[in-house]
Amino acid sequence: MVTTTSFTTTKSEEIFAQAQKLMPGGVNSPVRAFKSVGGQPIVFDRVNGAYIWDVDNNKYIDYVGSWGPAICGHAHPEVLSALKEVLEKGTSFGAPCLLENVLAEMVIEAVPSIEMVRFVNSGTEACLSVLRLMRAYTQRNKIIKFEGCYHGHGDMFLVQAGSGVATLGLPDSPGVPKNVTSDTLTAPYNDLEAVKKLFEDNKGEIAGVILEPVVGNAGFVPPDAGFLEGLRVITEENDALLVFDEVMTGFRIAYGGVQEKFGVTPDLTTLGKVIGGGLPVGAYGGKKEIMSMVAPAGPMYQAGTLSGNPLAMMAGIKTLELLQKPGSYEYLEKITNQLITGLLDVARKAGHQVNGGNISGMFGMFFSDTPVHNYDDAKKADTAKFGRFHRGMLEKGVYLAPSQFEAGFTSLAHTEEDIEATIKAAAEVLKEV
Ligand code: PLP
Repeated sequence: MVTTTSFTTTKSEEIFAQAQKLMPGGVNSPVRAFKSVGGQPIVFDRVNGAYIWDVDNNKYIDYVGSWGPAICGHAHPEVLSALKEVLEKGTSFGAPCLLENVLAEMVIEAVPSIEMVRFVNSGTEACLSVLRLMRAYTQRNKIIKFEGCYHGHGDMFLVQAGSGVATLGLPDSPGVPKNVTSDTLTAPYNDLEAVKKLFEDNKGEIAGVILEPVVGNAGFVPPDAGFLEGLRVITEENDALLVFDEVMTGFRIAYGGVQEKFGVTPDLTTLGKVIGGGLPVGAYGGKKEIMSMVAPAGPMYQAGTLSGNPLAMMAGIKTLELLQKPGSYEYLEKITNQLITGLLDVARKAGHQVNGGNISGMFGMFFSDTPVHNYDDAKKADTAKFGRFHRGMLEKGVYLAPSQFEAGFTSLAHTEEDIEATIKAAAEVLKEV
């Protein structure tokens, strides 16, 4: 599988040089520019199953999966053929369609906290909308988020955000006025005492707590035992809402997300990525009583020209149907655990200090001797070494997320041979980084 004996990126270089004249940094989303790993960004041409090919025809085993949606493997034939059928009827109605009901029912049935759902077009939109809803429902303005958690690029969330903000080393973004973020309180992840203190210091003012219940945007950071349960108790004691941002983890950590896996039910949930099967979709949902505040059922305004788009709905429906097949999540857990165990093993054998883990098809490895419980721990990792590792893996035909601060993803299409080839490639690269 790892076939790139002569690794050249001439066409990628030409296209990216042109792109830089046309789009800021040559990209439409920052991490794609490879700033934190250095070197030439790759321009891609096509995907299939567990693989992605670049414009120079180099083939890679893909652990990015379009940042999460490709959980069944890229370009799955059942998804594509269903999409072709929908396409024949047109691309957008901007009006109700039956497919919205189908996907809504599937989401409501799967996700414990969701009794009613609203579809939007991205994870960012879902998080912005849920924030407005948190405030509308509680009539309070302040929220608590955690350092290193990313909830899209809405102004209110660009405080101690992970993902691309971490990658670029921006503590915040210019253009976000101070008064907009002054109601965003932050705490270290996995620190219940810090959350309690914020509630004590801001009595009756906090609308709720939003978090990635398993973090992917500071690298892979799972919740400590009792953390999610503790947040549930604290928010209830303070009449505040608990919101799980499951844009990344929904239908990935388990079919019903982290809330199913860990048995903690939030009041509201955001979704994205997997539920769009590779097309642009986000969603937010929760208790009927809260969701009934959303227009036109209630007074909280939120709308979207392309929301509930039939193509996007169908890609989501087919993806969820594929995930429902028995054994899907057992398979994801098995191969991903093999992968991370193998990577940690070859790294340690090559003399590196590493930490990492996986839950289901989400994984991460830090070049660090400190176990990672929060963003401060994550930042201690050797990002320069990760950059060299990333480049080495690329040259051996393995495409990892181009940042130490992003989780990796496997799919149902990854085979044991892919995993073995990846570990073999890593063993070679890690001898030299
Ligand atoms: N929330 C989480 C947890 C995410 O991981 C992301 C994106 O990676 C977002 C929100 C934003 O989603 P989108 O990029 O679709 O706007």
